[in-house]
Amino acid sequence: MLRVKVRQTVPMVRVLINCKICNTRVFYELNEEEQAMIKEKAIYWPCPVIVKHIDHLLVLHLDDTFRNRGTEYCPAILERDASEICELTKGKCHETSLIPD
Ligand SMILES: [Zn+2]
Repeated sequence: MLRVKVRQTVPMVRVLINCKICNTRVFYELNEEEQAMIKEKAIYWPCPVIVKHIDHLLVLHLDDTFRNRGTEYCPAILERDASEICELTKGKCHETSLIPD
């Protein structure tokens, strides 16, 4: 009998963010590579991770299972310094609904 070894892939993780700058609930998707990079670089948990949403930055605090334990909001970006970050996170945020009052 022929046995085929199938590579186990890590499923995409969806991080829930309540963005209070635009009052929207957002899912941010982390692929296998991003999950591995966060685990490798984390010095402590929850680990701060910066993501871009529309025209502002959010600082997520992710635990070791990638649940968001708190978000800080950064409405002002100095684009000259942030252009690479903007490119890295382009098209990764998906708005789902307004945050309930
Ligand atoms: Zn936002």
